[in-house]
Amino acid sequence: MDVRDLQRENIKTLRPYSTARDEFKGQASVYLDANENSFGSPLPANYNRYPDPLQLDLKEAISKIKGVPIENTFLGNGSDEAIDLLFRAFCNPGKDNVIILPPTYGMYEVSANINDVAIKKVNLLPNFQLDLEKIAEAIDSNTKIIFICSPNNPTGNSLNRSDIETILANFNGLVVIDEAYINFARQKTFIQELTEYANLVVLQTFSKAWGLAALRLGMAFSSTPIIDILNKVKPPYNINQATQDLAFAALQNIQQVNDWIKLTVSERDRLSNALGRLPKVKQVYPSDANFILVAIENAHEVYNQLVDEGIIVRDRSKVTLCEDCLRITIGTVEENNLLLNTLDQLS
Ligand SMILES: *Cc1c(COP(=O)(O)O)cnc(C)c1O
Repeated sequence: MDVRDLQRENIKTLRPYSTARDEFKGQASVYLDANENSFGSPLPANYNRYPDPLQLDLKEAISKIKGVPIENTFLGNGSDEAIDLLFRAFCNPGKDNVIILPPTYGMYEVSANINDVAIKKVNLLPNFQLDLEKIAEAIDSNTKIIFICSPNNPTGNSLNRSDIETILANFNGLVVIDEAYINFARQKTFIQELTEYANLVVLQTFSKAWGLAALRLGMAFSSTPIIDILNKVKPPYNINQATQDLAFAALQNIQQVNDWIKLTVSERDRLSNALGRLPKVKQVYPSDANFILVAIENAHEVYNQLVDEGIIVRDRSKVTLCEDCLRITIGTVEENNLLLNTLDQLS
């Protein structure tokens, strides 16, 4: 399979926008080519120049941590932008379809709807693992992408590695593995498999473990043909200079992030055990993420009672396979204690 054959015909023949920075790449002392403000910015730092469209300095720093070459790395305005670009580059509206595996992250469906791309839903099994037989049945000649979220949102579990490998080896379209929560998981990343499968796209993000949700920075790792296609389709300056600078600085502070990951995981264990002891709690699902899915009697009512106490969790009680469930993000030690005390006192 040549993954380039998967792209839309109009993308294959597209001539991308050529920026001033693309046309002249060397060093010069006077830049009069991009209609910027030559005097500066009304800020302590200068933002008057357009940012690097390919974010090479930032990618270099990410590459040192992830071990993925720059040419296999795409950066998006959140992973949500990468998801949208995959639809726009590979899925013909009104013709192609993608497979999603509910209960899962909501953006795959929203992005498909925006792009007028049909969705086939194959529910996870009751143990929240992949239903390989039904997935195989759902695939047809117009199926372009299968979205696999692992660890999965909102269930929290990792999907079995061998099941994912079965799909990677047998599906002739793109397999997107969304690893937004991989830093909290016992299972290892699929990044190592990139050299094995040209149709694999691994999504990661700075929004969760890295504590930079407001900067909007997501990563897609894949084979060079797919990265080249994403770069061709993306808005030229999709990652702004402030985000590039701040993310670069954050990457020098990995020890802080690793400490928070350890604390999150230990709080996840403590919170899981304590929730399991509450009489109203029917089930605490095992989590590989920074949140816990909890089945609780009258979940919707409990949600409202928590809101009244100023504590907001995610009501997932109407979601397929998550009936009567709340999704609870791991907070600080104090926040988790407050949650536990409040739940304990609810009638
Ligand atoms: C939070 C989350 C993301 C992150 O999206 P960003 O656009 O990078 O903030 C991606 N996938 C899943 C499953 C998530 O839960």
